[in-house]
This record gives sequence, structure tokens and C-alpha cells, in this order.
Amino acid sequence: MRDSHGRRIDYLRISVTDRCDLRCRYCMSETMQFLPRREILTLEEIAVIAERFIARGVRRIRLSGGEPLVRRDFGDLARALGRHVKAGRLDELTLTTNGTQLATYADMLFDAGIRRINVSLDALDPDIFAHVTRGGDIAKVLGGLEAARQAGLKVKLNTVALRDTNEGQILPLLDYCAEQGFDLTLIETMPLGEVAEDRSDRFLPLIEAIAPIRERHALIPLGDRTGGPARYFALSGLKTRLGLITPLSQNFCADCNRMRLTCQGRIYMCLGHEDHIDLKAAFREQGVAGIDALLDRALAAKPLAHDFSVAAGAQPATRRHMSVTGG
Ligand code: SAM
Ligand code: SF4
Repeated sequence: MRDSHGRRIDYLRISVTDRCDLRCRYCMSETMQFLPRREILTLEEIAVIAERFIARGVRRIRLSGGEPLVRRDFGDLARALGRHVKAGRLDELTLTTNGTQLATYADMLFDAGIRRINVSLDALDPDIFAHVTRGGDIAKVLGGLEAARQAGLKVKLNTVALRDTNEGQILPLLDYCAEQGFDLTLIETMPLGEVAEDRSDRFLPLIEAIAPIRERHALIPLGDRTGGPARYFALSGLKTRLGLITPLSQNFCADCNRMRLTCQGRIYMCLGHEDHIDLKAAFREQGVAGIDALLDRALAAKPLAHDFSVAAGAQPATRRHMSVTGG
């Protein structure tokens, strides 16, 4: 699939649920209203729609949310899509999770054909973690990470850099990753959905966030891409790779290769735009045949770039939260 700007689209992110067992401050408000269940695609519908994307040339799928592991019977979807990896129709099936349920599900994920997961962790300090997540228990995540390692899953931690919140956690997180054999990716906060705080107060450009790392290690740019927007660096003296996702300070849209399917059955062509195409109705009325024409429309409508701003007082780029579109 190619969009109207000539970009090859071979990566699909699926938000399998907008629900979550945490309430990270940059992601959602404490009183987040979740979608009514009747508006949500069934797991079977998600699998059939994903299969249509695979038939059209998608080679990588990432399952995200909300928290994917809180959706009951998530394993059925992982196994259904994992079969396409085993058959060579898909290069990779990956997962983004907050890690709270990994101790239960790590082996299942590996058996389903998942080999790489991203686990979001913004602090190792229990109090800072509880503050950012509004009540999360770090012990559960650390236990989950241990289970993932033992199951043979390759782990990358995702850390959102937040001013006056977790700057002091970045070196401890890097040391932890080095000890565990994990990679670390730092992310700038993006203005998606109302979260009850002004994001401009918390926005920390990564150039500042990595200053303490630079004092200890040389950053050596790597050409590696893993299908996402991160740029990777080797660090002198460490095996851990450092990824940087800088949507605000360095725009990466020129290389965008992705589309997003939400749990409501909408295709979003860009995380930062409201434009979307509703697949659910077409799919429920016409079956798989209804999907193709809308996919072509989505490709034609994919915008060239997001238009995020975190200037003081700026409105979020979209009213939609990351948990709805799938981070
Ligand atoms: N619940 C899972 C998790 O936290 O990994 C998966 C969904 S979460 C929406 C996916 C990723 O988006 C996480 O790494 C999270 O830190 C990131 N995220 C959420 N809201 C964000 C925002 N406003 N700006 C930047 N990253 C955000
Ligand atoms: Fe939940 Fe992930 Fe959003 Fe945190 S970032 S509230 S874990 S969906």
C-alpha cells in the first residue's frame, strides 16, 4: 500500500481496548470515561480486519491500547494473528503493555508468536511510579518484566520524559535496562486528549532529558529501525540501545509507514489528526468486501504530517486520547 505522498504503508497498530488499569497523568484523566462495550469491535472482528490489512501488504502489527492485557480473551487474538507470523505472512507481531499483568501472560505471548514487547515504565522509584500512574504498584511491573525475560521475550522500556517528575529516574532506568538486557526508549509527551493538567508544564525536550546520560556515555547513532519512529543510539560502555522519539522537537512524519485501527473500528491515518474512516459499519454491513474500498480512501487521505504543539495554553491536537488510538 502506498499513500498519496508516496510513503509505503506496511505497519498497523491496533488499539484492542481503550480501558486500562492505570491512569498515567499524561495519558488520561483520573475520571476517564471509557467507551460503552457495544461500540467496541469483538476480538474476532479485529482479527478479520487485521487479516485484510495483511492481505493488502501490512508486514508488522503492534497490539496496544488502553492496556491490551486487561481485555478478556486477549490471548485468542494474539494466537489468531500469531499464526500469520508462523506462516510467514507477517514479519512480526508485537505488543505494547504497561506490564502489570505480564507475570500471568508472558509465556502465552511467547507461545502465540510474539518475540518483542514494549513495556511502559516512567520510574523505578515506587512513589514516583505511583504518582505518575495515579496509584500503580511498581512491584507488579517489575515481576512482570522478570517473567517476560524468563519467557524469552525481548523487552524495550518506553519512558515518557516529564519535567519536574521523572528526570532523576532516567539514569536509574538506563542502569536497570543494562542489568536486565533491555533497551530503553525515551518519548516526548504529545498533546492528545484532555488530561486535567497543562502538558506544557511537563513537556521536557529529550535533548534536555538525555543530558545526564551524555555526561556518562557517548551516543553513537545507529541506522537500526524497528518499524517505529524511534532513532536509535549505541552508548559507550553499555550494551543497551537508547531510542529517542521526538515528535515535537524533531518531526519524523516523512518516514511514517503506519495506520491505526481503534477498538471502535476506525482507521486513523495519523495520531495527530481527527480525520478517520469508520470501518465498523462497512464491515458489519458488507463483510470483508466493505473494507477494501475504505482502505483505499484511507491511503489517499493520509496527511503529510501531524500538527502538534505543546505551547502554554495550546489545545490538544486531538480530543482523542492515546489510549483510544493506540500508542
Ligand atoms: N497501556 C499500554 C502502555 O502504557 O504501554 C499501551 C498503551 S499506551 C497509550 C502506549 C504508549 O503511549 C505508552 O508508552 C505511553 O507512555 C505512551 N503515551 C500515552 N499518552 C501519551 C502522550 N500524551 N504523549 C506521549 N506518549 C504517550
Ligand atoms: Fe494506561 Fe498505557 Fe495510558 Fe498509562 S499510558 S494510562 S498504562 S493506556
